Order: sequence, then structure tokens, then C-alpha cells
Amino acid sequence: MKNLNVLVVDDEPGIRSGVSRILSNFTVSYPFMDADIGFNVIEAETGEDAIEIINSDLIEIVLLDNKLPGIQGTDVLDFINKNRPDILVMMITSYASLELAVKATNNGAYDFIPKPFTPQELKSSLENVSKHLFLRGMTKKMHKEGKEIRFQFLSVLSHELKAPLNAIEGYLRLMQDKGAGENIADYEQMIDRSLQRIKGMRNLIMDLLDLTKIKFEKKTEKFQLIKVKDIAQNAIEAINPYAIQKDVEIKLTDLNNVEMNADPGDIEILFNNLVSNAVKYNVDGGKVEVIVKTVRNKLNIVVKDTGIGMTNDEIKKLFDEFFRVKNEQTKHITGSGLGLSIVKRVVDLYNGEINVQSNVGKGSTFTVVLPM
Ligand code: ADP
Repeated sequence: MKNLNVLVVDDEPGIRSGVSRILSNFTVSYPFMDADIGFNVIEAETGEDAIEIINSDLIEIVLLDNKLPGIQGTDVLDFINKNRPDILVMMITSYASLELAVKATNNGAYDFIPKPFTPQELKSSLENVSKHLFLRGMTKKMHKEGKEIRFQFLSVLSHELKAPLNAIEGYLRLMQDKGAGENIADYEQMIDRSLQRIKGMRNLIMDLLDLTKIKFEKKTEKFQLIKVKDIAQNAIEAINPYAIQKDVEIKLTDLNNVEMNADPGDIEILFNNLVSNAVKYNVDGGKVEVIVKTVRNKLNIVVKDTGIGMTNDEIKKLFDEFFRVKNEQTKHITGSGLGLSIVKRVVDLYNGEINVQSNVGKGSTFTVVLPM
């Protein structure tokens, strides 16, 4: 249980002890909260005492009487507004001074509670305040995490684009200064490397375009009945020139002539990424098997390769943005490390699952399961 600190400021001892008694075993629960909320009550007789307590203790809620012996409730409210705007203030007020209470809520008090109040009235007021506090905390947290993720993404992205640009610029300057002599043949390796880096950047940009295409919600207006095999076939044809170069054979089997309602662009993203990885991270003369089938009314896409495989630690990070396995075998393969994070987004969008099985040196099998 989490406890909120409530400061009750009133010169009537009866009110203070009443609040303490009523809140001592009162708790609030809310469907999204992992723990109930309870209350610690701290008492202050004057506004001056209240300010001292607010300055030294972690107060979250203040129940504030307006008519106090020294400085007034509205003065305490001003102090809180200026110094601790995170504190929620409830004005306690007699019916005679309701007008004042309304004014106080316009001046930053969260709400007011007329006295005399019943235990139930106090409880429901406190229930509202604590739910408000809980939601405010959640919103703050989500906002912060979202920002952090975006920031991390942008900093990795700028690095990924800056590194190849620097390399290409370096090569071009060398050529400009004729650093390797007058003969163009002497620059061949630099030109090759530059083209390689440009290819890497182009892949990254294509992946980014894919990323921007996927929204956080499924856009059902793009849904249509698709033949999954046709989409797989297109993806295979696009990657085939590269596969022929590597002497990798791709075989497609559709066991159930699967048709489903989906955005064809989304399903294309799945095949493009999985099949191109299966070729890219394969060995020369290797094989790729693509199987489309339905199992218990779910679409299964299986992409199996005889490539370099991965360790379990690598599999754990596979779907992180920009993650790439770095070793001797992958050194010369270009990629952005975004492909599988995009695949994962699409799979999540369809409430599906993706599983990976892999053996180093033997190959990997990616299985996507989507509800139909
Ligand atoms: P990339 O653009 O680097 O291919 P991905 O997100 O598609 O990015 O893949 C992330 C990393 O996972 C790759 O860099 C590669 O190391 C590894 N990987 C992906 N698919 C396979 C596979 N079929 N076999 C072996 N390694 C793979």
C-alpha cells in the first residue's frame, strides 16, 4: 500500500481529530493501480505551522480551513501556488463563506469541502483527489518515457547517418586533393567503399520510410482480402537477384491457399524483411524455405534459413531498434538494424506473435503467427 501525506490545517481541534479518525483506516483503489492508497494525516493549528510543515515534509494533499487565527487560508494557498504547485489543496469552508471557497478554487485550490461534513463526504473528496494524483503521476511517467525513447532513437539515427557521410566525405576530399596520385584506378577501392556506404544509408532510409508507414493503430480502411502467397511471391522476386548472386535457393510453399483480411502493405513488410534477412545472413549455396499455412485459424509465416544463426543473447536483443550482430561474418553485410523492429511493430499491431529459433552455424527459423 502507498500512503499519501495529508496535512489538515484548522484551528478547531474537533475537525483535525475528526479528519485523522475518518482517514486512519480508509483506502482508495483504482483498476490500474498495483497497490491501494492509504492516508497519513498530519495536523496544523495555524497557517504559519502549515507552511513550516509544507517546507519540511513531503505533503501531497492539504485540507485547508480559510478562517485561521494568524495568516489566512488564502495566504497559505498563495504560498503553495508559488512554492509547491504539485500539492493539491482542498478548502474546508463553512456554508457562510462558500463564495470565498469558489474564489479559492479559481485561484488554484483543487476543490472545496463545506463543513460540517459527513465522513462519507470527506472520503469521497479524498478519493477524487487521490485518483487525480495517481493519474497525474502516470501521465508524467508516460510522457517522460516517450520522450526518452524518441531521444534515444534520434541520437542513434543521427549517428547511423553521420558515420557514412563522414567516410564518403573523407574519400571525396582525398580524391579532390588527388591524394593517391593522378591515376583513377588507384581510387577504385575508395569509390567501392563510398558506394557501399551509400547503399547502407539508402537501406536505412527505406527502413525509416517503412517505420513511418506503420501507425500505432491498425488502419482498417486499407484492409482487403489478400492472397498471402502472392505477397510472399512478390517479396521473393524482389530479393531474388541478390539470392542468385549468393547462390541461395528460395522455396515457397503455401499449404492452405491462405487468404486473410489485412493491409497488404503490412504483410509485405513482414515478408520483405524476413526473407531478405534469411538470404543476407545465409551462407553461399544456402537455402531458404518460406512456408505459409493456417494453424487453428491463425496465419503462420515460417521463414527458415541455413545461414549463420545467432546465440540466445543475440536473439534477446534482435527486435531492438538499430541492433545488429557484430562479428566476422556480419562485418561486410549492410543493414540498419531496424528491419526486425519494424517487423515486431507490425506483428504487435495485429496482436500476433513472433518466435525465433536459431543455432549458430546451422541456421534460423522465424515464425510469425497472426490471428485472422
Ligand atoms: P539489419 O538491417 O541489420 O538486417 P534487422 O533488424 O533486420 O537489421 O536484423 C537485426 C540483426 O539480426 C541483423 O543485423 C543480424 O545480425 C541478425 N539477423 C536477422 N535475421 C537473421 C537471420 N535470418 N540469421 C542470422 N542473423 C540474423
